[in-house]
Amino acid sequence: MILVLLGAPGAGKGTQAEALAAATGAAHVATGDLFRAEIAAGSELGRSAASYIDAGRLVPDEVTVGMISARLAQPDAASRVILDGFPRNTAQVAALDAAFAASGRAISAIFLKVDVGILTARLTGRRVCSSCGRSFHVESRPPAVAGVCDACGAALITRRDDAPETVAARLANQLSALDEVVENYRSSGRLQVVEGVGEIAAIQARLATAARAVGFGS
Ligand code: AMP
Repeated sequence: MILVLLGAPGAGKGTQAEALAAATGAAHVATGDLFRAEIAAGSELGRSAASYIDAGRLVPDEVTVGMISARLAQPDAASRVILDGFPRNTAQVAALDAAFAASGRAISAIFLKVDVGILTARLTGRRVCSSCGRSFHVESRPPAVAGVCDACGAALITRRDDAPETVAARLANQLSALDEVVENYRSSGRLQVVEGVGEIAAIQARLATAARAVGFGS
């Protein structure tokens, strides 16, 4: 089964998807992480995606769908998968449905709902580990030592697309597409909404309850 975790940039999808994957043993597949790995490896795909990502725009569907299809064909994605950051527009919803129509694998979505004003503060204050990728926040989730990852000790950095100018563009470019995706899953009876504001552990508990309701338990 496939669980799609929907949310705006800064809604906490990555943190929550990681925790849910650890609790349920599902594979966590994040398109943003796949793109960043391609960019770090200097691949052709990474080079073509970088200009879109740096501008806060969506990478074209043909590039994104090809990349995620290859990832979902890996053995660890054969059973349960949490999708984080995909699908991000109506065409990607259709591509995902088409890819799994034949196998009959169920697809359910959970929308992590957060107000726009909160998203901007979350994104500009976010810091990520340059080595293991763990996420922190200067105010709400600071590391024990400023600028240093609690998990592995490497330096924390600001993602290029979390720069204030890019954050505004990202939200402007991506929120209407997200609305479309949410509506799409709602109208096909495959959507649950989880409040994404509050203590991380409380959000995690609400998400786990919603996931269990669609048969995605530990
Ligand atoms: P994220 O880490 O999910 O915020 O993704 C970082 C950036 O990668 C986004 O701002 C987009 O430029 C790009 N990206 C991630 N997922 C997708 C997707 N499904 N379709 C198009 N672009 C994407």
